[in-house]
Amino acid sequence: VTAPITFSGNPLDRASERRTDAAWLADLRAAGRFLPFWQNRPLIKDGRAAFQAWSPELGSGTCVFLGLENAQGYFAIEIGGETAPALAGEFQEMRPAALVLPPRDAAIAGQAKTLLDWHARHGFCPNCGHATEMKDGGWRWLCPACGSEHFPRTDPVVIMLPVLGDECLLGRNARFVNGLWSAFAGFVEPGETLEEAVRRELKEETALQVGAVRYQQSQPWPFPSSLMLGCHAEALSRDFRIDGMEIAEARWMTKVEVRARLADKIVDEIRLPPGIAIARHLLMEWVKG
Ligand SMILES: [Zn+2]
Repeated sequence: VTAPITFSGNPLDRASERRTDAAWLADLRAAGRFLPFWQNRPLIKDGRAAFQAWSPELGSGTCVFLGLENAQGYFAIEIGGETAPALAGEFQEMRPAALVLPPRDAAIAGQAKTLLDWHARHGFCPNCGHATEMKDGGWRWLCPACGSEHFPRTDPVVIMLPVLGDECLLGRNARFVNGLWSAFAGFVEPGETLEEAVRRELKEETALQVGAVRYQQSQPWPFPSSLMLGCHAEALSRDFRIDGMEIAEARWMTKVEVRARLADKIVDEIRLPPGIAIARHLLMEWVKG
């Protein structure tokens, strides 16, 4: 059993079979709990997602249905404007917020962020360009002009730890600051399996030859709409070559070294991924074996 991962474990029942009923949703909304967002940031109060009853301060921005808990409807609402609305609490960036929220709140806020993000960028039909209409509490757009339907997207991303015997290969991405070394990652492309995407990305980034690919676990990653698919990849040799562009440095690390680094027993310029990242979970599973 793997450790719980940030943004997973959402307790809400999405009621996908009922949210198509507009009258049912309207009743729920009348007594609903709302999580305000402003400029893509959830409202946090006392270390919790600040769900609240309806009030005029919440305005008339995009409101999406998140799900049910104990027959109570939960919603998220985007508040527009240049200045933060006067509500109790603080609008916090999702990443730091996820570090302080209880796991259930982080998962709900992540779901809400991805959905509101999608709405902010998809007001027009990709088929004909007409303004679309939101349906099913935000889980479907319908174009009144051409009749096409559009659904919130999730982008699969493979993230993989190459392993060979007692060693794993870690890289430092050129975009990472502060000496962060991590697993390798990339978007799954159309027409690819998970395993093919893992092999292609590793070939592109490290010229590493890879055999078996083993899926470990996944993580919703609301920046803006990824699903991280964590894998271990069996390297066929230790030979690698980095391009120095996307990956600035790479090197093999033994289990002994990774265990020591996870336990903060080695103090130098190398940092392993933080607990919020699935890459750390890949390392934690690997050193168990
Ligand atoms: Zn259309």
